[in-house]
Amino acid sequence: MGFFGKLESKSYIIGILKGLTITGTHFVKNLVGLGDRPTIQYPEQRRKYSDKFMGVHVLTKKHDGEIACTACMLCATNCPAECIHIVAAQSPNPKVEKYPAIYEIDLLRCVFCGFCEDACPVDAVRMGRDYEMAELSERNFVVGIEYLKDRPQLQGKNISVFHEPDKIVKRGEKSASAPAGSKFAKAS
Ligand code: SF4
Ligand code: SF4
Repeated sequence: MGFFGKLESKSYIIGILKGLTITGTHFVKNLVGLGDRPTIQYPEQRRKYSDKFMGVHVLTKKHDGEIACTACMLCATNCPAECIHIVAAQSPNPKVEKYPAIYEIDLLRCVFCGFCEDACPVDAVRMGRDYEMAELSERNFVVGIEYLKDRPQLQGKNISVFHEPDKIVKRGEKSASAPAGSKFAKAS
């Protein structure tokens, strides 16, 4: 090992100088616009996420406008974060046994794992694509039925595939006939 090698192994100065050189190079490149910047000018610019991205949940609707959820509790039972709160009630519709009088998700506790979507037997809850969740109060992160089914970002695309008899697709299959808001062409 030569003189400089010994000096490098015994001193932090060379390592620090190397680090500063890299930082300085990036700084100057970015300053004059030569660098390939990883940052974007948010919110004017937004990243395009994959269709598999799992963001804020969506409660789907049937064609009559009612939510598809039957308050079976499977999503809440399978939720590892225990952040889904459902209160079931008897439905006024004689053809439907139960509906959720309350369906709330605590987005601060949620880990966006998608288990609720997987557990639902009637395509009533999906992982949407929204990721902008800034709020001023902790309480605003507990979202209920109105937000989950009708927030503007959904643009009315949250119709349940399960409740469209001619458009039922088996799990894992892609369907050309699946509507834009279906599980296979993620809502929102
Ligand atoms: S995404 Fe996971 S953690 Fe969040 S509500 Fe669904 S099951 Fe629970
Ligand atoms: S969202 Fe699906 S799994 Fe959850 S209670 Fe409603 S029907 Fe059951």
